[in-house]
Amino acid sequence: MIPTSFDYISAKSLDDALSLLAKHKDDAKLLAGGHSLLPAMKLRIAQPKVLIDISRIKDLNYIREEGGQIRIGAMTTHFQIETSELLRRACPLLPEAATNLGDMQVRNKGTIGGSIAHADPAADWPASIIALNAEMVAVGPKGERVIKSDEFFVELFTSALQPGEILREIRFAAPKGKFGQAYLKFRHPASGFAVVGIAVSLTAEGSKCGSCSVGVTGVSGKAFRAGGVERALKGASLDDKTVSAAADHVTDGVDANADLFASSDYRKHLAQVYARRALETAVSRAK
Ligand SMILES: Cc1cc2nc3c(=O)[nH]c(=O)nc-3n(C[C@H](O)[C@H](O)[C@H](O)COP(=O)(O)OP(=O)(O)OC[C@H]3O[C@@H](n4cnc5c(N)ncnc54)[C@H](O)[C@@H]3O)c2cc1C
Repeated sequence: MIPTSFDYISAKSLDDALSLLAKHKDDAKLLAGGHSLLPAMKLRIAQPKVLIDISRIKDLNYIREEGGQIRIGAMTTHFQIETSELLRRACPLLPEAATNLGDMQVRNKGTIGGSIAHADPAADWPASIIALNAEMVAVGPKGERVIKSDEFFVELFTSALQPGEILREIRFAAPKGKFGQAYLKFRHPASGFAVVGIAVSLTAEGSKCGSCSVGVTGVSGKAFRAGGVERALKGASLDDKTVSAAADHVTDGVDANADLFASSDYRKHLAQVYARRALETAVSRAK
């Protein structure tokens, strides 16, 4: 399909993009990597009159560690995350999640900011964003604000970003001590998106779990925190039996999606199996 006609403007800076958004309001859409927006435009699900291209704003493309925090600019591509030496050392969860995402073409062009702003319930990044307790820095007409990961994914394809706002940065505390992380995904055989995706970041204190954070994608209308798993594991022994029992809580209180590929019960079962495997992998890496 061919999209409806639109004007294209390449923003020169973040301020320029904000002014253009304020000028064109609901008629405009930001264009990052285009790997979610352009397919939606071709299907005419999205019909913006103006595209504001933010891909040439260099200030939005970076990965750095500052004062114990890792900061990633919204326009950083999936490939840059996959291949970042800094992240491989300081937060291997993100490069691991990136290798699971789409194919090389998608990873070369698509951005972490575009994916998170799009809030696709089967996208890979949201699980890691929750597991890392990340903060999203949004900038808008009233200045900057920080949105916590637990509040960012509101519902199907809806994030907490307000009209006129641009996601500028994703930031989180660099894991400390003996930590282990893992992202495991059961991919849909046709689309490659997550039927279930589980991200785990935990710390070990001796044989016990110091902290544990688990994000889940693909299972329901939005990515969510598996609070039941976290509560079952925090302070508990990291032995196989305890880890396996904790994984059973992964969909506590969640209505799992049902579709042609996976019934609700099957998805819940997959989530338990993948949560157990992701936890076991993270525990083995933390030792
Ligand atoms: C063939 C194919 C396979 C894919 N497979 C996967 C997969 O397995 N897993 C997965 O997670 N994803 C997958 N994707 C999606 C891919 O990850 C996209 O790159 C990503 O979802 C969107 O990022 P983008 O930079 O392309 O954003 P765009 O498509 O440019 O934008 C997406 C939306 O976010 C808005 N937006 C973009 N940047 C910002 C910002 N900084 N602030 C506010 N709003 C913003 C745009 O206005 C638009 O509404 C796939 C895509 C394709 C085409």
